[in-house]
Amino acid sequence: MTWGCRGGERDAKVTTLPRLCGPGRGTLRWMASVTPLDFTGVTKIVVLTGAGISVASGLRPYRGPGGLWEEHPELADIATGEAAKTDPMAPWRAFGAVRAAVLAAEPNPAHLALANLEARLKGTATVTVITQNVDGLHQRAGSQDVVEFHGALRRTRCSNPDCTSQPFDDDSLPIDLPLCGTCGQALRPDIVLFDEPIPVDAEWAAKKALRDCKLFLAVGTSGTVSPASNLVRSAEYEGARTVYVNLTPMVPDNPAFQLRFIGKAEEILPRLLGL
Ligand SMILES: [Zn+2]
Repeated sequence: MTWGCRGGERDAKVTTLPRLCGPGRGTLRWMASVTPLDFTGVTKIVVLTGAGISVASGLRPYRGPGGLWEEHPELADIATGEAAKTDPMAPWRAFGAVRAAVLAAEPNPAHLALANLEARLKGTATVTVITQNVDGLHQRAGSQDVVEFHGALRRTRCSNPDCTSQPFDDDSLPIDLPLCGTCGQALRPDIVLFDEPIPVDAEWAAKKALRDCKLFLAVGTSGTVSPASNLVRSAEYEGARTVYVNLTPMVPDNPAFQLRFIGKAEEILPRLLGL
């Protein structure tokens, strides 16, 4: 079941399912009535994506029922920078299975729709994807302007901050601790572990993208907590149209979003982006 709702409007359908769009808000839109967004005059588009956009690619969340770590919940405890300091193999144990899953995953219609939009609007509008995912599927789909808030699991880097070596593409699944060829210290996946901050350059790129943003979409991520809650506020401040696409409604509702589409990203995005 898929629907969307528009903030500030009401119709008879809302009274039958008001909780779906937040208390007292929204016009219920069934999937069949999801119409393409109008890109006329839109010069800058920013899309924030989260785990929900990659579910159709076979990538499960880390935690919770059906999660990658469901059988080994202790892995969540070692997926931190603090754990890596005392046990450099910890990130590899925590994310080895995730890297294997990422290697087997393919971009789905939601990733492809965003890449298509960027190519289609080239010359008239920029499309920046800010992703919380580490799977690299946006780039594999063809998106060129991608800001990785949490790094990339198919890259490896040295754990020594003073080392001169650069992160490198890496699909290996190490059993023994891999060591840096430059300084001899432990290598680690080039991702942001759970207690680590978003890289400064990624934050800066996101802020730059949001300047003069005309259209902001949050896809497959919570609309009520950071980073979506912060980014949508910035976009709203810039006067952008703001759109939420996710499998579940926001609880509580975030009024900074003007349009809401509840359902599968791989079904909604191709229609919404006019494919
Ligand atoms: Zn090194």
